Amino acid sequence: MIAPWMTEPTLAQRLLDGDRRALARAITLVEDNRPEGWELVREVYPYTGKAEVVGFTGPPGVGKSTLIGALTKARRQAGRSVGVLSIDPSSPFTQGALLGDRIRLTEHFLDRGVFIRSMANRGALGGLSEAALQAALLLDAAGRQDVFVETVGVGQAEIDIIDHADTIVLVLMPGSGDSIQALKAGVMEIPDVIVVNKADHPLTDAMIREIRGVLSLANLDRTPEEVRGHWRVPILKTEAARGEGIAELVQSLDEHRAHILGAGQLDERRARNLRSEVLAIATARMRRRLEEDLQEDTEFQHLLAEVVQRRLDPASAAASLLERVGAERIS
Ligand code: GDP
Repeated sequence: MIAPWMTEPTLAQRLLDGDRRALARAITLVEDNRPEGWELVREVYPYTGKAEVVGFTGPPGVGKSTLIGALTKARRQAGRSVGVLSIDPSSPFTQGALLGDRIRLTEHFLDRGVFIRSMANRGALGGLSEAALQAALLLDAAGRQDVFVETVGVGQAEIDIIDHADTIVLVLMPGSGDSIQALKAGVMEIPDVIVVNKADHPLTDAMIREIRGVLSLANLDRTPEEVRGHWRVPILKTEAARGEGIAELVQSLDEHRAHILGAGQLDERRARNLRSEVLAIATARMRRRLEEDLQEDTEFQHLLAEVVQRRLDPASAAASLLERVGAERIS
């Protein structure tokens, strides 16, 4: 007979113990959309919610990875464990093998207190954004105190990913005016912290003035009370490559966390993010089910042909399709 303490620990147990190999395996399972991956997240989910998740976005080349490297160093010096997820929705490569090169965290590769992972696989159910959130949950369950999620670019896919973070940092550098346009146009919600990296550049102060202008425009929509109780978005100057300004960034991140905890916003923010997560997964599953069901459906083919021949408009075709599959309420 095998004594209970001699049985192999499950993957979930090993993960909860912080085992790095279990963590790597677990993330691969969710990335590959394997049922064991979803099962694992289900098992460890009650143990999550402890990690402080910070999302970083900004155009390629502004220094996000360098910044995360410097931040990781600071958090490690403070005795905290760190997980980093680097996510590239635009990469056509699966497994993000080539992304590994991009991450400028080489000095942390041998540190067991730092776990670094790149993801670029679109195959996951509901998309990369969902896989990234599952991976962040796994890092959280494995006891990582700080989880940094980095995305490349400021498109909608990137924003969906970092939307799940507790604190969102937009990283820019002097001259990256496009992103300011994105802020101005409301493509991107106002982040919690703005970093202007490569601040040794002569255009840094002009850039900061421009950002201030955009932020004050955003404040015009608010009542005076809202402005008072509102988090004032700090604009920080850093030189990530030399570690300049990192202490201030650490401080701003801590202050933001204290602010959202104090104002009860952390729970609110997480509830909102989890709601969109549940809806995203449900939508993805419904769509997949529908596509599978309709693959060989002659009536659907007929309906499509009607649309192609301009005898039926797309919305009416969708309504008649929904009626048939029993989802009349949304038709
Ligand atoms: P990412 O694409 O946003 O992750 O940017 P990286 O972190 O890969 O950095 C892009 C390049 O900028 C690298 O060659 C870095 O060494 C360099 N870099 C990062 N921070 C600074 C900085 O503060 N000043 C200068 N001059 N270069 C930097």
